[in-house]
Formats: sequence, structure tokens, C-alpha cells
Amino acid sequence: MALAAPAQANELRDALSADMPELMELYRDLHAHPELSFEEVRTAAKLAGMARDLGFDVTEQVGRTGVVAVMENGPGPVVMIRADMDGLPVVEDTGLPYASTQIATPASGVETGVMHACGHDTHMAAWVGAAQLLAERKDEWSGTLVMILQPAEELGEGALAMLEDGLYTRFPKPDYALAFHDAAQFPAGMIGYSPGYALANVDSVDITVKGVGGHGAYPHTAKDPIVIGAQIVNQLQTLVSRESSPLDPAVVTVGSFHAGAKHNIISDEAKLQLTVRSYSDESRKLLLDGIERISTGVAMAAGVPEDRMPTVTVADPYTPSTFNTPDFTESVMAGFRERFGDDRVMQVPSVMGGEDFGQFLRADPDGVKSLIFWVGGVPMDQFERAQAGEEQLPSLHSPFWAPDAEKVIATGAEGLASAALDLMPQSGG
Ligand SMILES: [Zn+2]
Ligand SMILES: [Zn+2]
Repeated sequence: MALAAPAQANELRDALSADMPELMELYRDLHAHPELSFEEVRTAAKLAGMARDLGFDVTEQVGRTGVVAVMENGPGPVVMIRADMDGLPVVEDTGLPYASTQIATPASGVETGVMHACGHDTHMAAWVGAAQLLAERKDEWSGTLVMILQPAEELGEGALAMLEDGLYTRFPKPDYALAFHDAAQFPAGMIGYSPGYALANVDSVDITVKGVGGHGAYPHTAKDPIVIGAQIVNQLQTLVSRESSPLDPAVVTVGSFHAGAKHNIISDEAKLQLTVRSYSDESRKLLLDGIERISTGVAMAAGVPEDRMPTVTVADPYTPSTFNTPDFTESVMAGFRERFGDDRVMQVPSVMGGEDFGQFLRADPDGVKSLIFWVGGVPMDQFERAQAGEEQLPSLHSPFWAPDAEKVIATGAEGLASAALDLMPQSGG
């Protein structure tokens, strides 16, 4: 892959600077009007219209609210650029003049505020910025550009919904898939990347421990599901510490444990909710099999009747881990280093968070190379206060997350557009 010449870098950046006021206006509008997962109707319609105006061939309602914008421009590779569209059921507390006041009712049934607390609004504004740069430079590249807007990333279901609705069959199948995510731990404008596994397999597991209820004063006549549940919780800790390889990161967290109604009643059931994180398929299987085995084993040891063994349910679909194709990642980053400077590009550790971007590679592991990179969003003054221990940084999904959107969008758009230009040189090679 050819590295971008500094002259081109400046030209692209200058063009983007001229576009920034409009992109920021778009960003503020998106930020003020977040929509929940699979409800991104206004968002999708607005951005689909913009892509159409730029000359893309646009199809809406791919995977429910998803959008696919295709620009065929001669022979060459197919490059897919993805932004996610959904906001979160979070009541915004940033105090920004364009803070969201939207209200909606998610699947839980409890009415809530809605906020772009994960920064998907920055992704979308950068997506439009990149689309604009590439549409204006059709004479500088040759190939097919597939710009997609994905719904429901926060549910971990939107990427799969688009694939199942024919993303790779009804539209040109990508050779390269690109995306970025804003990052709440890096200074604004910094680029972070992890070759190989970047984000984790995320499984939600429900365990129902069944006991035999009774009077709290007569435990010998009952099988106490709270004690059995507590033993299961403890035993689960050994999955990561004793069974999983110390060199293969994994997490088993019991996030919820509910049982009982009153001091003196032994309940007949306990409900546990777990989040289980891993990278490889083998590691995932080890953890999930282990959870099932431990739950049953502990119940058997406690003498629970055979017809009252615990039930273990793994939510389907799950969010699979995201893998950055190593050689592809390194070559894009070589371009970024040239363009943005060494001090703005940094290899960072993978995280145990989840992101369904990994689906786009899993749908065709041999045919697609994929990369998602981080773009830091923490305003510099805030980052310095945090470094000095004077302030704690809000995380993604926090009601206080207010990135330096201008830096995120400018960096994201330039990164995506320049990577696409490098991947689709004029020669068609
Ligand atoms: Zn998120
Ligand atoms: Zn996100």
C-alpha cells in the first residue's frame, strides 16, 4: 500500500477543514436527536439523503433501519466504511447547549432519556465527512466504495441484521472493512489501534438455581438456593483463575443475584445474571461449558433433586469478538503515522468491551480484511486534569461523556478517507 504523500495529506485536511462547520452542525443535530437501537429512523433518513446528494446509490431499511450507500468507480477493490447510528437509554447530563432532551421507551418498558453517550454521533458525522471527501475525489481512486450505516450496535445485533438482510449478497462484498470508535481514555485526536483481537466475545448468561423452599428455622427440610447460588458464584471464580490459560484473557462477572422475599423463608429459586468475556472461540466455549458444569455440579453436591437441576441459558445472538486483520491494520497505521505523525498514532491494549463490527469479518473470514481503530475524544484540558489526579474521566455510556467532537470527527473522517484512497489507488491495482 502506498503511503500518502504529505502534499496529499494537507490537501485532504484543508478540504476537510472547509467542510467542518457543516459537519459540526450535522453533529449537533444528531447529538440533540438520538434514537434507540433499531429505531434510528430520523437518523437513517437524514444521512441517506445526504449520501444520495453526494451521488451514492442508496438503499434504506437494510437490516431494519440500516443504510447502504454504494459508489462504483471503476475496477479495483471494494472498501466498506461503517458507522453505527444508535443512542442509549441514558439521561444526558453534559450541560451542552445541544444536549439531548429526547425521551423514549426501550424494551425494558421503562421510559427514559436518550443520549448519544457512546459517541456514535461523531462516527456518523465523520462518515459523512469521509463520504464527501471521497465523492469529491472520484478521479483520485478506482474501485467500489460501500458506505454503511449500521443500526443497533448497542444491542450487538445490527451488524448481523444487515448481513442477514443481504449486505454481502445484494451489494458488493467488501475486500476491506473499516470503522472507528471514539475513545474516552485518550486525548482528542489521538489514534489507537490493536492488531489481532481488539474487542471481546460478549455473552450474557442466566442461571436459575432451583432449591426446595421452606421455613428459615428448619433449613434441614429445605434445599437453600441462596447457599447453592453463593457456592456457584465462588466456584465460577476458578474458571478464569484455574481453568483458563493465564495468557488468554477472560472475564466471568456475576452482575446480578436475586432470591427470596422475607427474612424467615428459604426461597425455592435464585436467579443469577452473568457477563462472560473472552477473545477466542475456544476460550468462549471453555467458559460457557464450565458455567454449565459448575452450576450442575454444585447443585448435585448440595443434594438437589435431579429434576431440579439449575438451568443455564446463554443469550442468542451474542456479540462476537472483533479481530483486526494484523497485516491490514499495520499497513493502514503506517499510512496514519505518515499522515498524522508518530505522536498521534499508538498501539494500545485490546479491551474486554464488545462491538459487533466483528461480524463483518466473521461473515467471510477468508475474503474480508477488517480494522476498527480508536479515536481519542477527551478534551485536552480535561485529560491534563485527569493526569494530575484532579478529575476522573467519564467513560463511554456515561451521562457526562462530552467528547471534543470536532477533533474526533476531523480525525475520523481524514483517517477513513485517506485509508480508502490508499486502498483504491487510481491504477486500480
Ligand atoms: Zn456503546
Ligand atoms: Zn459504541
